[in-house]
Amino acid sequence: MSETTATEDRAIGEHVTLLGAVRAGKYPHGGSLLVKGSEEALLIDPSLSLVGRGSLPRVDRVINSHCHEDHIAGNHLFPDLPWHLHALDRCGLGSLDGMMEIYGYAGPSADYFRKALVEDFHYVPKPDAVAFVDGETFDLGRVSARVIHAPGHTRGHCCIAIEPDGVLYLGDIDLTSFGPYYGDAWSSLADFERTLGEVRKLEARRYATFHHIGVLDGREPFLDRLDRFAAVIHSREQRLVEFLHEPRTLDEIVAHRFVYRPGDPVPYADAVERRSMSQHLERLIGEGRVREVEAGRYLAS
Ligand SMILES: [Zn+2]
Repeated sequence: MSETTATEDRAIGEHVTLLGAVRAGKYPHGGSLLVKGSEEALLIDPSLSLVGRGSLPRVDRVINSHCHEDHIAGNHLFPDLPWHLHALDRCGLGSLDGMMEIYGYAGPSADYFRKALVEDFHYVPKPDAVAFVDGETFDLGRVSARVIHAPGHTRGHCCIAIEPDGVLYLGDIDLTSFGPYYGDAWSSLADFERTLGEVRKLEARRYATFHHIGVLDGREPFLDRLDRFAAVIHSREQRLVEFLHEPRTLDEIVAHRFVYRPGDPVPYADAVERRSMSQHLERLIGEGRVREVEAGRYLAS
């Protein structure tokens, strides 16, 4: 697959189409879902791959699984439709400042990202974006899309269950080998772990992720991927404990890199390492597995 050619649109249920994605949905791209009932149609997570697409699907509403740049990059193509997302992420669509709060970056990471949101991800505010809560169901006429609050990645991250097709859209519980992302101000490691436990119980015929893992048929491949995805959390924590065999500062932890690989050219990597690994550090201190041996230096017990 080339860097610019999109995959073909593909039906993944009688009423659900996975729209074509550039780079097979690898970030910053992703696979949007079109859901059509007899009365209404929804577009879930309009991606960057919709920008420049020949024809846009005709829909009545836009649904965002959460407020991250890659999941809203195509929202601007539907300026007159209602945009819906969970109440806890709604501030991100309200204003660019609200969007930046979700990431919580400071300094050069913030400057870089604010610019990228507008120039690369086509960010436009929508102060009248509509908030939903857990359990809210969009009745499309013989087809329903039910919102399942699944926080951790962001506070308002949601999965969406589409029936009668038996499709569960997982958003950024993306099942990649990178593992769970909980590196923003709006992210929570503890919530993400709880969510992984809850999502594991959800029965579906097909499990759809936004990024390049795509759609998994049936429970077995889903559980296999989910368990490997969840295991990345443990592996990061284990590597942190090993690194703390001598006293280290948080700056040294950030520089060592546990989420990204050393040398990965990610402009906001330091911010993400700091937020992600602080959560692990706090937990390890709480469990007595790590202690602060002198001001700002941590050692594994
Ligand atoms: Zn995301």
